[in-house]
Amino acid sequence: MGLRTVEAAGRGSPDQARPAGPDDCLSVREGRLHVEELDVVDLAARFGTPLFVLSETQLRRNVRRFRAAFAAEWQGPVDVMPAFKANTTLASRSVLTDEGAGADVYSPGELAGVLSTPVDRTLVSVNGGGKSRDYLARCVSEGVRITVEDVDEIDLIQAVSAEQGRTAKIRLRVKPTVPNLWRPTDFSQLTLPIDLAIQVYKSGIPSEYLVSMGRRAIAAPNIDLVGLHVHQGRHHASLWFWEGLMSRFGKLAGELVAAWDGWRPQEIDIGGGWPSPRDPLNEELPRRDFVVTALGFPFLAGLRALGAGMYHRVTSRLLPVLSSHRFREAPPSIEQYAAAAVRTLLRELKAASVPTEGVRLQIEPGRSLYGDTGIHLTRVKTIKRQSQPFPYSWVLTDTTTFFLAGGHFERSRFRHVVANKADRPATMTADLVGHSCFADQIVLGARLPEVVAGDVIALLETGAYQESSASNFNALARPATVMVCGDQADVVRRAETMEDVYSRDRVPPRMLLFRDAQGDPIAMETRP
Ligand SMILES: *Cc1c(COP(=O)(O)O)cnc(C)c1O
Repeated sequence: MGLRTVEAAGRGSPDQARPAGPDDCLSVREGRLHVEELDVVDLAARFGTPLFVLSETQLRRNVRRFRAAFAAEWQGPVDVMPAFKANTTLASRSVLTDEGAGADVYSPGELAGVLSTPVDRTLVSVNGGGKSRDYLARCVSEGVRITVEDVDEIDLIQAVSAEQGRTAKIRLRVKPTVPNLWRPTDFSQLTLPIDLAIQVYKSGIPSEYLVSMGRRAIAAPNIDLVGLHVHQGRHHASLWFWEGLMSRFGKLAGELVAAWDGWRPQEIDIGGGWPSPRDPLNEELPRRDFVVTALGFPFLAGLRALGAGMYHRVTSRLLPVLSSHRFREAPPSIEQYAAAAVRTLLRELKAASVPTEGVRLQIEPGRSLYGDTGIHLTRVKTIKRQSQPFPYSWVLTDTTTFFLAGGHFERSRFRHVVANKADRPATMTADLVGHSCFADQIVLGARLPEVVAGDVIALLETGAYQESSASNFNALARPATVMVCGDQADVVRRAETMEDVYSRDRVPPRMLLFRDAQGDPIAMETRP
């Protein structure tokens, strides 16, 4: 049984898994969720919970599918350069290196991780602002691409490459103005329309500097300006967004080519920003927050005046409505994105007489490449219900939003499957919560089959950004990651121990004066 059937079994419960097509590593067999050939409940028993699980087969399939989709549209070579930050496990990086993929990296630590695998260095792009001289020198000596962000970076790169007697390959990260993208952004921490959200985002060189920076790079003896780069992230899941962004990027590229007399790009990098098939599309809390704060307070104030009984009766009806959620339609397929983005880009470049013969198209997918390669397993610890002053229920799990920080930061709502009851209909509603001292709301108003302590819940689409942004709040040790391939499963990042959690701490010796030779505390009155 595929996940489509699970959705039906959930009686239209919007949280239930969405089919991601025949290429999905997830399936339900005899009521149990499987990753590839392995029963998820067995994985939880074998490796413990909470646990991140990755599918090697899904990762390989995704990277091939990306390459094929864009190669079918672009009339030249296509390089897939996944964003390493989305999943920094070296095992997943090794899989990508084995598939011939390059990488987008954003820090010296990420560069070290990517270079620890035998990656093709010409397909590694070092992005980000504020790169230090040492970091740039390392980039030049390693022969990786440098994607320039800062106005003074060209001079620094020239200096370090001259010192090494090498030529640095660089690209300029541009930031087109996009007045055509006037819709709310999906990045819900920004309540701006996309055009303004792109302008206030720090990344990309402001257009006013581009012409002179390009000329400086072209004139620099130890720099080869090989291309242009744009990345704006996942503002909108529509093809409309990609057509709009690519049309403005193509126009800007045309203006630059005209201004840099005779210069031609060897590569054009359009970054990442596609959703994953079951993307939790950021609609969770803002709707509730907005309604409660902007519209709700005057209403609730009026309601309180009618007495506590009325207040609680109405709010108990209102909260589930605000917590319930209608997921949007599944986003377009990667083939549809490739067609929309590349056709628009080619049209604009042609109109601006930018030659594209032999030019490499580069893409840096993060979320869309890794998202559906991972799930997060958590066990139900206990269930709590109240009936007064109004009914409410919580399913307390052994994980926390602090381990799913990428999702929490973007206010995602994860789809979930009770792995050992995957074909049972949803009969109860409860907040799925984590065990930190915060409210730790993983899924508000989750629709669930009847769960009991010990049940294993899988949160879907956690392959990107979740593990890589996990923290140790409440001194919780971060969970392990296991990679599945067929019927095999290996720990690829071990769980932290308590020792790990405190391993960076040092207690200055003067504080130890308050203990006697046996290590027992010295009473306050007898302290020196
Ligand atoms: C984060 C990032 C990406 C990947 O973005 P997604 O939205 O995850 O696809 C690509 N390129 C750069 C420069 C990035 O910073």
